[in-house]
Amino acid sequence: MTNERLIPAQNGQFNIGHICTRLQCDRGFAGKTAMHFLGAHGERTECTFGDLERESARFANVVRSLGFSAGDVLFIFLPKVSEVFPSFLGALKAQLITGTLFSNFGEEALLDRLGDAGAKGVLTRKSYLKKLLRIRERLPSLKFIILTDAAEHQAADILSLPALMQQASTEFETPLTPAEVPSVLHYTSGSTGKPKGALHRHRSVLLQNRTATEVLDLRPDDIFWCTADHGWVTGTSYGIIGPWSMGVTQVHFGGAYDAAKWFEILEQFGVTVWYTAPTALRMLMREDPATFARFNLGKLRHICSVGEPLNPEVISWGRKVLGKDIYDTWFQTETGAIMITNRPGLTIKPGSMGKPLSGIEAAIVSDDGKVLSDNEQGNLCLRPGWDSMFVSYFHHEDVYRQKFKHGWYMTGDTGYRDSEGYYWFMGRSDDVINTAGHLVSPFEVESALLEVEGIAESGVIGVPDELLWENVVAFVALRKGYEWNSGLELKLRLHISNRVSTTATPQEFRVLDNIPKNKSGKIMRRVLKARYLGKDAGDVSTLDI
Ligand code: AMP
Repeated sequence: MTNERLIPAQNGQFNIGHICTRLQCDRGFAGKTAMHFLGAHGERTECTFGDLERESARFANVVRSLGFSAGDVLFIFLPKVSEVFPSFLGALKAQLITGTLFSNFGEEALLDRLGDAGAKGVLTRKSYLKKLLRIRERLPSLKFIILTDAAEHQAADILSLPALMQQASTEFETPLTPAEVPSVLHYTSGSTGKPKGALHRHRSVLLQNRTATEVLDLRPDDIFWCTADHGWVTGTSYGIIGPWSMGVTQVHFGGAYDAAKWFEILEQFGVTVWYTAPTALRMLMREDPATFARFNLGKLRHICSVGEPLNPEVISWGRKVLGKDIYDTWFQTETGAIMITNRPGLTIKPGSMGKPLSGIEAAIVSDDGKVLSDNEQGNLCLRPGWDSMFVSYFHHEDVYRQKFKHGWYMTGDTGYRDSEGYYWFMGRSDDVINTAGHLVSPFEVESALLEVEGIAESGVIGVPDELLWENVVAFVALRKGYEWNSGLELKLRLHISNRVSTTATPQEFRVLDNIPKNKSGKIMRRVLKARYLGKDAGDVSTLDI
């Protein structure tokens, strides 16, 4: 760690909220712009590191005054609005375990996460209140719902954030926070069981800071735009922590994808470093180049991508249209920071994720724990112990332990390493679906489908898609007396969207007489996938079909 751009934790203070705000003010950045925020409806605000320090201090005081103490869980369930940022940092200052949720989550998805974590509070907005109230009775630990957009308190436990903030002091002495204190909680989907909460600790800031420097190539005078939602680990590790831990100005946009708007943002704010995702880049690729021709992106210096495989065609498009390389980076909720990556100084091999970051030991390992040779396919593994490694699946120690085998952390991805040490992604070793960079649990969707009248069985798979990497496809078997029709299909779509999320809603449904299962009743998604793709399903002798 010789790079002078790194900001190490000082005097044993690892608190992420403190490092991203107070420490930056102490470094002389109090008047520097921390964030240009452009809302979904064009509203524009700006805040300095001084503002961020004061507002996060207020929020820390708010949660303390409500009786939250270190280790209590608070979730932020909001779209990208400016309140997210000081609240997230303020909650961390108060040493709360701070979770973020995608704003498109439905009731069941919320119930699973809030219930599993034993959340004490949720920060949200009025329009999401209905969803929460419908599951409230099943959340005995939930003491407070705090609304960002209510001018007054609605009830003793449904409170107005503006009213609370108005009364709170802008001074907060962040308690000394050792590296191991828990910090951020992100729920992630597996292929079996409910989603699990990957719990991080304040130590993670060390690696988020280092990768922001070495991979995103951020320098103090950069203008950085990370398009990821804060519901996703990229949105917190790099949409908040990494860049602010080094005092870099960020742009945040609360609106949806819009090609012209995105280019306008890049130009208008003079974005120098841009971190986005392959699906977004593929969507841009489909646009008429005339859409971009009128924008001057002369300031854009470095572009990175994360979340799904970055196809070589996207890299060629970037070179042609943006005049820049696009650097693929690989990491996951559990790793907390970028692990395998292309980066300045390393020649890009289009289609490869690059090489492990210095200090990160990766390997391709067989199922029985043998480290495989170059070009052999196997499980992508990491040697445990890096600074931003998750410390548990909250309340599921057994599942956590299962992720570590033969001295390796098993990422759940498969791939190979070539003779020059570059890593190539092949797929997942489980059935988790990656659609537009979001992991979708087939189990969650299958369970929700069974709640709809007339559905006897369900099986859900991901199938290749040119734009989204994978599409969600649902197979259903109907109960006797029910018929497949467009009304039922619409009902299923709405149900999944309301219960799970819009992202998880299947793009396609297929009806079968029964869903292939093995003798112990496990849905054989492998067989469904082979059938869908018109391929041989392999050995089906153990199937009950
Ligand atoms: P999440 O935990 O939701 O961030 O998803 C992490 C998963 O997304 C990884 O385990 C991979 O399957 C996939 N992923 C992330 N980055 C990349 C990448 N650069 N190339 C291929 N897959 C990726």
